Amino acid sequence: MSKKKTAVVIGAGLGGMALALRLASQGWRVVIAERSGTPGGKMNRWTTEGYTFDTGPSLITMPEVFQELYHSIGTDMRDHVELMALTRQVHYTFDDGTTCCQSASLPEWLDTVRALEGQTDGFMKYMELGARLHEISKATFFARSTLEPPGKETKGVLSNMPLLRGWGNYHKEMCHFIKNPYLRMIFDRYMTYVGSSPYQAPGTLCVVPYVEYAQGGWHVRGGLYEIIRSFLNLMESMDIELHLNAPVAKILHEGKTVKGIRLEGGECITADTVIMNGDTANAGKLLGAEGYRSCPPEQRSLSGLIFLFALRNRHPDWHHHQVLFSKNYQHEFAQLFDEHVFPDDPTIYVNMPSITDRSLTPGDGEVMFVMANAPANDRLKWDASATEAAKQRVLKRLKSSGFPEFEHEIVASDAWTPERLQCTYDMPGGAIYGRNSHGKKNAFVRPFNKDLRYQGLYYVGGSTHPGGGTPTVLMSARITANLIKKHEQ
Ligand SMILES: Cc1cc2nc3c(=O)[nH]c(=O)nc-3n(C[C@H](O)[C@H](O)[C@H](O)COP(=O)(O)OP(=O)(O)OC[C@H]3O[C@@H](n4cnc5c(N)ncnc54)[C@H](O)[C@@H]3O)c2cc1C
Repeated sequence: MSKKKTAVVIGAGLGGMALALRLASQGWRVVIAERSGTPGGKMNRWTTEGYTFDTGPSLITMPEVFQELYHSIGTDMRDHVELMALTRQVHYTFDDGTTCCQSASLPEWLDTVRALEGQTDGFMKYMELGARLHEISKATFFARSTLEPPGKETKGVLSNMPLLRGWGNYHKEMCHFIKNPYLRMIFDRYMTYVGSSPYQAPGTLCVVPYVEYAQGGWHVRGGLYEIIRSFLNLMESMDIELHLNAPVAKILHEGKTVKGIRLEGGECITADTVIMNGDTANAGKLLGAEGYRSCPPEQRSLSGLIFLFALRNRHPDWHHHQVLFSKNYQHEFAQLFDEHVFPDDPTIYVNMPSITDRSLTPGDGEVMFVMANAPANDRLKWDASATEAAKQRVLKRLKSSGFPEFEHEIVASDAWTPERLQCTYDMPGGAIYGRNSHGKKNAFVRPFNKDLRYQGLYYVGGSTHPGGGTPTVLMSARITANLIKKHEQ
């Protein structure tokens, strides 16, 4: 029997763990070295006094991408985690007090669109554009590395190529279809799913709202971190070695061939293949090589300022996902991306999964995750007074949008600043999605999944192709596993 080849994955984020599972099922011996004390990377968990918080992702979209991963390693997602469909996806509040609810029921949502827009044709045509681009993306951008030539399956889908629309900027293209100012804000917000500004991202990213309307938004019973826990169980059953508190200091190479890694503690692990799940912007540093692209502030995606509040009382009439829009959304994005400052009047996202899932709290009570977009600017110092000042802006927006008083109910709380995200996960400026998707080049030519200079070195996760966000991170694991199969097995 031939000896198994060894793959070392740097980082136990969602992408690193998904890739480890795929490689182990392809016959590799897999070792993961993770710098922090818990696996999951940005998809993580905080528990306190019986309350369970997801500290990162709070909404699953494109569930079939998750199902495909479990299927690819010979199991069924339903045997590991329970996906819960959200019937009322998001409750929106605008500055003037107008509210509306995004229902998962198409007839109900079309009623909302009709009430705001006077008709539904524009929305349906916009979704048709999203559907066509999604079909193309599935066979191209989502399925293969940018380094690979198009395959046979690409031919059939190119007939879906929209000739007229989708090629300008996201906001302008969307406004061609959607006329109502409230709906425009709702659609503009989808670009924050990829950490970007609707005013600078390409119109082809209308795929992002399309997949949510077509496939819904989902919660995982017990919290999204249950996905990471299920990966851990599967990793154990597949003999994947996980080293926690094991920061990698160096990627070892002889000439232009990688040979393994060295941990900060000095231990070396030899490997036939090394895969970096940490941010690609740090690759040059670990290789000790010149000429690797860093990620300067103007190219970074959004970071976030997050407050976690454990509330004493139940609020069944509040909403699982809520968005409270600022008065001037365009100005907010200008502050985030042009001025690189925390907005004066931030749009607030409130996630209260315990409304849907009572397993997250001890008896009565709610878990409340409050997030505002923040610039990934490492020149901003998030000390206690800066964080408090930003928190006051967040609370002011909640109050002026009519969000009920809750501070007297807080039994425990925590805060995540961009600086804390940066330090915990070693990502430039705390940028959650790696590079932003501004302009076609940034959106579609992200750092490659295979290193072009070092034989045996690969990348996986949100900072590489096809981009950040949980479904695309899982796609990157599939793409990188296929590349390794092709080039290393
Ligand atoms: C607040 C927040 C909200 C989000 N909301 C959503 C959402 O609702 N829906 C959605 O789809 N996505 C969301 N995301 C994005 C999603 O969480 C990420 O895209 C995804 O989890 C990133 O996975 P990844 O594989 O790129 O790895 P990461 O999570 O970036 O993990 C990389 C790992 O590598 C480790 N590492 C780095 N350098 C080293 C080193 N030198 N040695 C060893 N280990 C190292 C890090 O510690 C980390 O654990 C959110 C993220 C955050 C932070």
